[in-house]
Amino acid sequence: MDLSEKNRQTLLGLAGDLKAKKISSVELVNECFKKIDERDNTVKAFLSVDREAALKAAEEADKRRAEGKSLSDFDGIPVGIKDNIAVRGETLSCASKLLKPVVSPYDATAVARLRDKGIIPFGRLNMDEFAMGSSCENSAFQKTCNPCDTERVPGGSSGGSAAAVAAGLVPATLGSDTGGSIRQPAAFCGTVGLKPTYGRISRYGLVAFASSLDQISPLSNSVTDAAALLDIMAGVDRMDSTSLDAAAPNALASALSGAASGSLKGVRIGLPEEYFASGLSSGVDKVMQNSIELAKSMGAELVKVSLPHTKYAVAVYYIVATAEASANLARFDGIRYGDRKEGRDLIDTYFKSRGAGFGDEVKRRILLGTYVLSSGYYDAYYLRAQKVRTLIRKDFEEAYKQCDILLTPVTPNAAFKFGEKSDPLQMYLSDIFTIALNLSGDCGVSVPGGKDEATGMPVGVQFLAPALGEAKLLGAAAAFEAALK
Ligand code: GLN
Repeated sequence: MDLSEKNRQTLLGLAGDLKAKKISSVELVNECFKKIDERDNTVKAFLSVDREAALKAAEEADKRRAEGKSLSDFDGIPVGIKDNIAVRGETLSCASKLLKPVVSPYDATAVARLRDKGIIPFGRLNMDEFAMGSSCENSAFQKTCNPCDTERVPGGSSGGSAAAVAAGLVPATLGSDTGGSIRQPAAFCGTVGLKPTYGRISRYGLVAFASSLDQISPLSNSVTDAAALLDIMAGVDRMDSTSLDAAAPNALASALSGAASGSLKGVRIGLPEEYFASGLSSGVDKVMQNSIELAKSMGAELVKVSLPHTKYAVAVYYIVATAEASANLARFDGIRYGDRKEGRDLIDTYFKSRGAGFGDEVKRRILLGTYVLSSGYYDAYYLRAQKVRTLIRKDFEEAYKQCDILLTPVTPNAAFKFGEKSDPLQMYLSDIFTIALNLSGDCGVSVPGGKDEATGMPVGVQFLAPALGEAKLLGAAAAFEAALK
């Protein structure tokens, strides 16, 4: 078998082939090993793969299928997991030296729900340390390359998750999105990346970066696959008090009908003017203009809208996210978890362990976050940022009075080269189109939209929808994807 065959790249295609007995799960998993052996020496998406465990799970899936006891259509399909999402018996390093020795004793709820359907959690994927970054250059262990051009970054922080899908190493992966960490690498590598509504998927078992922003979610080769995985993982969880007790998303049905129709008739698509202002590279601008034309030809009604507080999104995000990170990362002290560096006394042990264990970017965020929360500065920075966050959310509410979904760029540029953004501020500014969505708590998806004319690199387009609007969002995105093909 060959994973590069078109229908073998998607979960739905693979599910069909498994059902028709054209392939077995063991063959599929072996094919992933083969692809990893061929390509991952260069791409470096995976930190590790427990081949024995994956094969054993595949054998069990094949046995269930032979007995007519499959757990779902997806039983026996491997899905790669970012190394900040807990899988029982696997590392949970967050690509940090500090957590290198940690092995998770439990499954994240999202992972447990995949397992309930027979999906095999497959390998540990590289990322920026503690999900802080936009290029995977902040991993303490290795630099993942963009499979489309290995001199370029795959994006971040879920760079390993995007690169693994784009390189055909595994049909889908899980990542996490706090400020764009799924959508931006998806755009850079040419895959689909979904950020669901805050609370849609339980965060239990996701190592916390910024708890009011973090979401687990899939990266895949099609919008329908993202919808299928969302449907499986969504739902309230008593282990995460922020998980939403909402009606099931029913995203797959909607995505399938969108893909079949290829139509956007009756859909009002808002184009926020602030997202098309100066700063877009000409390659991204071209892809956006083509996408707008395509949406129009598919029957969408295009509306100009405004999100006036967008200009504050980067500033607000880097206050809220660092504040929450400084509190969340306080638990990593070398005492209970991870790599302890013995000091003279307890305090010295904290200093030594954290000093040696955290990388520069993580330390920068902890310092920033501690500063904006400290007495005397709390009101000026943190409290003010929270107020502006509310204004950003209200902008979206206003916009959605005039339209159903929004269409925007994901990033100002296509994937950049390693070392190109060595100034942290330049790196932060590249998140400009993704982070407002995390601040508002709504849902969005990045879909391949075309190629950058200058570099030939993939360019993503972003569809955004109101909270709990995943069915509508993925229906429209699937229609767009189908029409583009
Ligand atoms: N690039 C952003 C940051 O560095 C987003 C990270 C994320 O979504 N995890 O914080």
